[in-house]
Amino acid sequence: MKIAGDTHTHTIACQHAYSTLLENIRQAAALGHRFLVTTEHGPAMGGAPHEWFFENLRKAVPREVEGVVVIKGCEANLMDLEGTLDVPQAGLKRLDLVMVSMHRVTFPRDTTPEQRTAAWIATAKNPRVDVIGHLGDPRFSADYEAVLRAVKEGGQAVELNNSSPLSRPGSEENCRAIARLCKEYKVPVLLSTDSHFCTAIGEVSWSASVAEEAGIPEEQILNTTYRRFRDWLAARQQIDDLPEE
Ligand SMILES: [Zn+2]
Ligand SMILES: [Zn+2]
Repeated sequence: MKIAGDTHTHTIACQHAYSTLLENIRQAAALGHRFLVTTEHGPAMGGAPHEWFFENLRKAVPREVEGVVVIKGCEANLMDLEGTLDVPQAGLKRLDLVMVSMHRVTFPRDTTPEQRTAAWIATAKNPRVDVIGHLGDPRFSADYEAVLRAVKEGGQAVELNNSSPLSRPGSEENCRAIARLCKEYKVPVLLSTDSHFCTAIGEVSWSASVAEEAGIPEEQILNTTYRRFRDWLAARQQIDDLPEE
């Protein structure tokens, strides 16, 4: 399965990734991708950019660079059990796409699966949130059925993160269970890399195999065509400057 754009990518701006935004865009262009979503870590993570980075992104970076539509997003940190994010309102307002993830360095320690389930449900109620990031992390297990019902209600998409088996060991079974629930509840899915170096962009074979095993139809995977992804995002966030094709 091929994607038309990678929806989870990092740059040198977060200080633990190693390519510039332009290098990522050029890699996307070389792969024949129509779009790229740049999703830098929110400011609460060590080394991550200041909140102004997120406020200025939409203005500073052209909509299209070297034939690639640039979607200006973030990977916000879920900070507490109430669904608080670390990117302030002013920044959130100016971004095209907001993905939210739980990370060990920013999410409260010693939480229970019940508490994490409640935190995800609160997140899914936030209309500014578009994507749930690496939900299958075994350190943050939750009641996936309850979470995905809330996500379906909120209209968000769930990513199947190709880096999960390497970056979050023990994710595999959770990701497979999540994929089966996405199929059951018809939750939109994204195949993404979580690239921290440009050569990783577009390599989603593991994620694609998880989606296929779960029987998720291609129409449910938003980023296998630009048009499908674009129509979903433009409708969610009233973005009026995304090219139609
Ligand atoms: Zn992450
Ligand atoms: Zn990431």
